[in-house]
Amino acid sequence: MAKADYITSIGLEVHVQLKTESKMFCSCPVRFGEPPNTLTCPTCLGLPGALPVLNAGAIERTILTGQLLNCTTPEVVKWDRKNYFYPDMPKNYQISQFDLPLCLDGGVPLYELSYPKDHQKDIVNPGKTVRLTRIHLEEDVAKSTHHSNYTTIDFNRAGTPLMEIVSEPDIDSPEEAVAYLNSLRQILVYSGVSDADMEKGQMRCDVNISVRPEGQEELGTKIELKNLNSVSSVRRSIHYEVGRQIEELEAGNTIIQATWRWNDDIGQTEIMRTKEDAHDYRYFPDPDLLPVRTTEMLARVQQDLPELPHEKVARFESDYQITHYDASVLAADERLADFYETAAKGSSSPKKVANWVINNFLAELNERDLELADCPVGAEQIGELVGLIEAGQISNNQAKEVFASLFEDPDKSPAAIAKEKGFEPADSSEVEGFIEQAIADNPGPAGEVAEGNDKAANFLTGQVMKLSRGKANPKQVTEMILAKLRS
Ligand SMILES: [Zn+2]
Repeated sequence: MAKADYITSIGLEVHVQLKTESKMFCSCPVRFGEPPNTLTCPTCLGLPGALPVLNAGAIERTILTGQLLNCTTPEVVKWDRKNYFYPDMPKNYQISQFDLPLCLDGGVPLYELSYPKDHQKDIVNPGKTVRLTRIHLEEDVAKSTHHSNYTTIDFNRAGTPLMEIVSEPDIDSPEEAVAYLNSLRQILVYSGVSDADMEKGQMRCDVNISVRPEGQEELGTKIELKNLNSVSSVRRSIHYEVGRQIEELEAGNTIIQATWRWNDDIGQTEIMRTKEDAHDYRYFPDPDLLPVRTTEMLARVQQDLPELPHEKVARFESDYQITHYDASVLAADERLADFYETAAKGSSSPKKVANWVINNFLAELNERDLELADCPVGAEQIGELVGLIEAGQISNNQAKEVFASLFEDPDKSPAAIAKEKGFEPADSSEVEGFIEQAIADNPGPAGEVAEGNDKAANFLTGQVMKLSRGKANPKQVTEMILAKLRS
């Protein structure tokens, strides 16, 4: 059997640290990069007798996430203890949610630009939505760091609100898994729920993978890959693991349900434990915490839902008459989207502003290795620059020069820079003179224009642009030539 005769099913469990001021069950601040064990108290250290107090903000952000992903929220949710023994959790249980989580069902839409760049032309299921099983809220554990013969532990992370988003095994390929993570991240960042930075561990991911021969209805035996911490390792590990499972099946072996890990250094998966070693967490309701009624919070959240990336794309397309692709590029980053809207405000050509932002502005940021947040050039200046082109004050090429100077002199207005450079529009009698000269110099093409040849008209426009040293407005010149020769 060839490899193409297998079906791959992938489900993701994504852990997301919520962007709250304080921790899930105590008032210690949530901050990244502080000295170890400086953001702690008896509750998040798990000392005997310390009692948890719920963080309403964390619950609200989880409900908001559910609303943005079309989930339902049960009227009553509760808190359960997940029991296990490990140094990163000294009270020997983690407070989580077992059978009544905050959100159920729903789904994550896969945005086209969220697929890997090298795969965006080969998307198998455009417009696909990956179904969710549930989203629940729990507390993060401490961070252990393993050294050669000892382990250090940092409790700053312990008790950070952690949202777990569990998908159905709807994902068919490593590339869809990448799109899922990127789309989800975009929505979380957009709504301010989390910064979801995988490098900082704010978003971590477990992957369930199974393969089965085509024609077989039930899913194959699944392997769980634990704790992947970058999008690229998710993609590479799934590629590897799917290949490995197919090879096993080809060789006549059976897959044994187990937990594996990805070794990024050698690019292989390694077994951690089989099902026999799996923990029995003995979940039971936490007696220290009351169940939560969600109705009021849900109503509050629903009153103020943020615009989602795909909604912004649709609005940009209709409000500004730009292409779906341009709108998607601009909306992919909320700050860039805001930048564009500010620049386009009041512009007679929002489409041209979009071209400038995407083709010139982003390229320049890239060239200078600048983040948008650190860019000295403001959105209003880009809007004004495009306005100068539209009004025929400067040509496109002159605008490029003004644009480059803006980065050196961000306090000046584009109009002031254009003036300094001597970019002033040629007056119309001057242009009239150039047109007459171009026609006199090029009787052949002029005759062709009269007979309806548009290429010849472009040629004459080019001659006039040369005579005016780029000062004339090419669109106006062409119109004037046609009026002269075809009337
Ligand atoms: Zn604390």
